[in-house]
Amino acid sequence: MVKGNWNLNWFEAVPGRSLPAKIEAESFDVASDVRPETTSDDGGGQNLGYIDDGDWMDYNVTVASAGVYTFQFRVANSYGNGVIYIKSEDGSTLGSVTVPRTYGWQNWTTVSTTATLAAGSQVLRIYANPGAWNFNWFNVTQGGTVQSPAVITFAALPNKAVGDGDFNLVATTTNSETPVTFTSSNPSVLTVSNASGVWKASVVSAGTSTITASQAASASFLAATNVSQTQIVTSATVAAGQKITIDPKRWYQLNNVSNGLDGLFDGITDVNVETGWGKVLPNYDAYYPCWTVKR
Ligand code: MG
Repeated sequence: MVKGNWNLNWFEAVPGRSLPAKIEAESFDVASDVRPETTSDDGGGQNLGYIDDGDWMDYNVTVASAGVYTFQFRVANSYGNGVIYIKSEDGSTLGSVTVPRTYGWQNWTTVSTTATLAAGSQVLRIYANPGAWNFNWFNVTQGGTVQSPAVITFAALPNKAVGDGDFNLVATTTNSETPVTFTSSNPSVLTVSNASGVWKASVVSAGTSTITASQAASASFLAATNVSQTQIVTSATVAAGQKITIDPKRWYQLNNVSNGLDGLFDGITDVNVETGWGKVLPNYDAYYPCWTVKR
């Protein structure tokens, strides 16, 4: 007794609900600030509302036998982006599922995931983060296929030099149901693009960029853990006596003005630089990426 000075008449210990079972959301044993309201879902009764980010509901249960269980959640979500976590008494996450947008607080759908439960009496916490979804019931049945994250293999990227041609980005994955996508952290060094499922990288300038391979969840897999590789792009080097191939994209038409030459050095190589008084000289100038000092 930490703080006394109160009377006790009796207390009652009731067994947790036996699982498998369908449990009404509003029948929680303990919860944060969530509120029951009349539901218009099939079967009537009440649902829980006012489920905010970080809110939770605890349900005392008794699990008949250890193993994999499928959890179906009956939810409505006007805006989307909700996530339901199933947590154990020690706070670990046993399973999770996203709550899709249903375009109304009483437009109901059922989402499901799996969790591996120990046998015996325990508390299951349904944790909302993000919240803002309504919750009518959840149904726990024995069995189900446990989903695991897909695993991406994305090899290290050999160095490239300014002037190198486009190259393909390739990663393999254990999940063939959904594509791997790539992003570049520094598009001023390397850009990535997708054409008909083939990912292509294009060198832009010297520097480094982190290339990240990602894969979203699909029917049989959870989202893969991202895999990143660093792409180093070096300045082009020209050896003494080496012939320089003429690149028409690097030619510029100049005239005899004292300003406006910034365009030569802005890194945009496919736009002509034609400045000044319009007195085009009968000769041309060009530059090539064989610099040895930073621009
Ligand atoms: Mg209900």
